[in-house]
Amino acid sequence: MNPLLVSVRSGARESMPGMMDTILNLGMNDVVCDCLAKQTGNARFAYDSYRRLIQMYSDVVMGLPKTSFEGLFENIKKQKGVVQDTDLTSNDLLEIIHYYKREYQTLTGHPFPQDVKEQVLESIKAVFRSWNTDRAKTYRRLNHIDDNWGTALKEILPNCYMEFIRISEKLEEHYKDMQDMEFTIEEGKLYILQTRNGKRTSLASVRIAVDLVNEGKISIEDALLRVDAMRLDEILHPIFEEESLKAAPVLARGLAASPGAAYGKICFTKEEIQEKYQKGERDLILVREETSPEDIEGMHLAKGILTLRGGMTSHAAVVARGMGKCCVSGCSDLVINPINQTILLKDGSILSANDFISLDGSSGMVYKGIIKTKDPTGSYEFDTFMSWARDKKKLGIRVNADTPRDAGVAKKFGAEGIGLCRTEHMFFDEKRIFNFRQMIIAPTKEKRMEALNSLLPYQKEDFIGLFQAMKGEAVIIRLLDPPLHEFLPKTEEEILNLAVSLGVSFESLKEKVFSLKEFNPMMGHRGCRLDVTYPEIAKMQARAIIEAAIEVQEENISVSPEIMIPLIGDKKEYDFVKSLLEEEIHLVEEEKGRKVSYKIGTMIEVPRAIVKADEIANVAEFFSFGTNDLTQLTFGFSRDDANKFLKDYYENHILENNPFTSIDEEGVGKLVDLATRLARKEKKNIELGICGEHGGDPKSIDFCHRIGLDYVSCSPYRIPCAILAAAQASIKANQSK
Ligand code: PEP
Ligand code: MG
Repeated sequence: MNPLLVSVRSGARESMPGMMDTILNLGMNDVVCDCLAKQTGNARFAYDSYRRLIQMYSDVVMGLPKTSFEGLFENIKKQKGVVQDTDLTSNDLLEIIHYYKREYQTLTGHPFPQDVKEQVLESIKAVFRSWNTDRAKTYRRLNHIDDNWGTALKEILPNCYMEFIRISEKLEEHYKDMQDMEFTIEEGKLYILQTRNGKRTSLASVRIAVDLVNEGKISIEDALLRVDAMRLDEILHPIFEEESLKAAPVLARGLAASPGAAYGKICFTKEEIQEKYQKGERDLILVREETSPEDIEGMHLAKGILTLRGGMTSHAAVVARGMGKCCVSGCSDLVINPINQTILLKDGSILSANDFISLDGSSGMVYKGIIKTKDPTGSYEFDTFMSWARDKKKLGIRVNADTPRDAGVAKKFGAEGIGLCRTEHMFFDEKRIFNFRQMIIAPTKEKRMEALNSLLPYQKEDFIGLFQAMKGEAVIIRLLDPPLHEFLPKTEEEILNLAVSLGVSFESLKEKVFSLKEFNPMMGHRGCRLDVTYPEIAKMQARAIIEAAIEVQEENISVSPEIMIPLIGDKKEYDFVKSLLEEEIHLVEEEKGRKVSYKIGTMIEVPRAIVKADEIANVAEFFSFGTNDLTQLTFGFSRDDANKFLKDYYENHILENNPFTSIDEEGVGKLVDLATRLARKEKKNIELGICGEHGGDPKSIDFCHRIGLDYVSCSPYRIPCAILAAAQASIKANQSK
């Protein structure tokens, strides 16, 4: 056998952003590796070449996380007590190959390709893909001649130095971007081997873009288009230190639910977190099967959150994004043993409470032990860059916020109003949840009213805070949405505790909890359906909103409350709830002798509301597309469980992206477009926005711009990303005119 090993290198296609990393040693497979080891008598060389191929191929061709393989490599080095890579023996390398192939199969669902033609073809496809996407712009440090090196070259070979400077300036001028050049000097002659646009961190890409504008090399529009909006998150959240990350063993992978990086001790309950926090411990990670309203305080105190179930719009994901806290959700590789308080890993090993883990909420990776983090750093260039983005965008940018703190953070980032306040989040607090549960289990309307009256001051206080924070900008407050049983305890022990504190019998409470259970709660007694059954809930919320608005207005702060009814599917349903609201609002206005201007509108999140959008627009003052539920109901995919099978859809090329992350333009998007047209035909100036998680996704924001929505609304820390994505959408649309 005479094996041929080849490399695939890519040149940068004209006007494209970057070049793909080179892949070496293509042609290696089990047989070739074995043969090469025997023929050369150098098994170490053969095995090392093969393990390098698997690592490069996984990263560059398959787009698998580099950290998985690097983590495995470092892990084995540690196990073998080896410091330098070169100290690994051929047997060590053979073991690494075995683990790499297993990791490859786990992450891709199929074995590492043994067919060398497939290796080459897939690598070529990766080159084409790298020209069409920004994938090549990965996380690498700027590569430029450092001062010491430059000084040495200048002294030893002044002519080469001058020529290098001249050529590099010419190349930078030509490509209008920072260059990453490879060169060699032989017998005093400089040879330039290749050049490509330099890869960089997010902050560096902002700085370079601003510098290039200031130097007159590129326009503001070009600068805005050059930065990956998705990666702006990196600038706002802690990230792992590169050195510390290299050595970290990967434990599992879940969904990248809320960006940022964190390490801490495993805590399984809110109580454990509270206890440790009181003792002064701060590095704590809350690990739950899934979170519920009762975990909120634990989530507040934790550095990061890891859940085993639930998708991108699960309770943990949405709440963590609001808090700007890192979260990995739906990590189904792990199993919690509630009796021993341990976590069982896929490889059979076990983690216990107090063991340290590290989470990367931007990639979904979970690591063993402590990986040091570094805090985000702001910069003057970032502010300049964002001010350009604000100038260029057309879409309004609002925030999904339920607390004055979140609203304040969002406003600092540039939010122009609240697009969604989920009022149910306001009942999670320990004191409030008691009254809220009293309301749910109330046997009569009178008892329910009593409980609602105790909740009223809390709601009012929250709304006052939001109106004050937003200073006259729109504040969309959504009426209670989730199924009520979500707020009730689940285990017998919890039911017993609640029965004691509410002064009711265990049996009657258990029966009530059972009676509220639904087979399909997300399609059950929730949203506006609750108001149809219990009008007093909608009335209490309307009163709290209007009383709060009147009070803030009296402080000479202008207010723009917008009351949003969730889950509407029919005009009559809308009319019913709207008249309840108006009845109560008129009462409040009479009692207070004051008026306030407000709007009433609806979420559009049920497919039926799309086809009835013209009729509903006739009576509603605004629509906000709830694309989380709309995606769920259009596909019929559960938003909390779909990630279990979605990977099979990607592998089989049925879907390219998670439709809960990036709007499915062909299906759900078409429905949003249809409703937009129907609504505008009926009411030209109706206010239209989107508040599902797609409101913070650059690709979906581009879509919202194209179909002419008025605004997008997203979680606080996503605001800069949304502003940039909106500016990019507007620039691209202008360029294609
Ligand atoms: C939605 O459905 O898109 C939405 C924003 O509401 P929620 O996620 O609270 O159901
Ligand atoms: Mg919804």
